Amino acid sequence: MAIFDSDAELLERRFMAQLQLERLQATLHRVYKNVKFYKRKFDEVGFLPEDCQSLEELARLPFTTRQDLAHSYPYEMFAVPLREVVRIHSSTGSPGAPIVMGYTARDLRHWAKLAARVLTAAGVDRDDVVQVTLSYGLLTSAFGIHYGVELLGASVIPTGPGSTARQVGIMRDYRTTVLVSTPSYAQVLADQMEAMGVDPKSLHLKLALLAGEPWTEAQRREIESRLYLTALDHYALSEAMGPGVAGECEHRRGMHINEDHFLPEIIDPITGAPLPAGELGELVLTTITKEAAPLVRFRTGDLCRLLYEPCPCGRTLPRLSRIQGRSDAVVIVKGVNIYPSRVGQILAGLQGEEPAYQLVIGREGHLDFLEVKIEVREGLFFDQMKVQREFLQSLTRKLAQGIGVSPRVKLVEPHSISREAETSPLVIDLRK
Ligand SMILES: [Zn+2]
Repeated sequence: MAIFDSDAELLERRFMAQLQLERLQATLHRVYKNVKFYKRKFDEVGFLPEDCQSLEELARLPFTTRQDLAHSYPYEMFAVPLREVVRIHSSTGSPGAPIVMGYTARDLRHWAKLAARVLTAAGVDRDDVVQVTLSYGLLTSAFGIHYGVELLGASVIPTGPGSTARQVGIMRDYRTTVLVSTPSYAQVLADQMEAMGVDPKSLHLKLALLAGEPWTEAQRREIESRLYLTALDHYALSEAMGPGVAGECEHRRGMHINEDHFLPEIIDPITGAPLPAGELGELVLTTITKEAAPLVRFRTGDLCRLLYEPCPCGRTLPRLSRIQGRSDAVVIVKGVNIYPSRVGQILAGLQGEEPAYQLVIGREGHLDFLEVKIEVREGLFFDQMKVQREFLQSLTRKLAQGIGVSPRVKLVEPHSISREAETSPLVIDLRK
């Protein structure tokens, strides 16, 4: 398999750490000098950029949050004069003020290169025809991938989202080999093909690069079998750059993060303390090459692990595990951090697909309790009490092992928990 930038992607770890430190020091100097927000933040904790003599020093600095970025609307976080900014993107801003992202010409060159790394790791090369169904508007999603494809020398079809029947026609007639979309839109396309009587096997599709929303291994299997292709995950974070931050290689052991540009940390989302490698927590990123809008310790809100074991592809870049939900969804039960989406993953691992489920947390006397309601299909309602009891016990044990708290498991009838989050939240906390 090809590697787009072997100097960086195969760099020995000790040289990578040295490069990161140099780039981090330069970034800290620049933001201290040019961004009032960072000057104030650093002064508050008595930190001078020249204090940073090792990567560990970073943990002394305060975090940057989405709220901080929204408060800096529109240009307060820019570290260069506006005349050096050649591109501006922004979030939708609902609710609250939008978050504005700026790019210098050099930032844009980096963006294309990093997207090209991710595309190459996924197996895209210059013979491919890449259909980009992500948004080409103010959001960053489509552009990074678009320029990455062109840099690789492959062909890009910038369809943008929507007009699904037309997308399928283009896919067939223009012989698209790579689909870039959100996981849910890949499923919409599969439905559309069925409705149009188009057999995915008759198309040239071989690969889908999916991102933009959390998705599961079960969804991956479904998309792969319905569209008859390989589906790979990548990580696009607008505030840090857009697509190109991290992406899976063919071995699917997590997404290789371009850590010569983004310094990753995993923290405990409740206490903010850094966690050791391999632990599940919130991803925090520091950009170490961005010129226009650098970020120091940006809290992504995304829950994942950082994996350093070697990957058979040879890349020395560590990997982000699949994003396992949002840190603002974390609840504490009996002093243990519970990630509600983890329950879904455990259930999917046991049953092959994720059932609808709901966590109810309450307090009896001074003790917390956790009840997990799980929808079961007709077949799973056992007539025999003994079989049902054993099933419940084994389910309870597996959940307790996986989340660290022993729950009460309650099986409920199909459709009794709506999957619509507004009407039926994933977590009901009765303690509040
Ligand atoms: Zn790999």
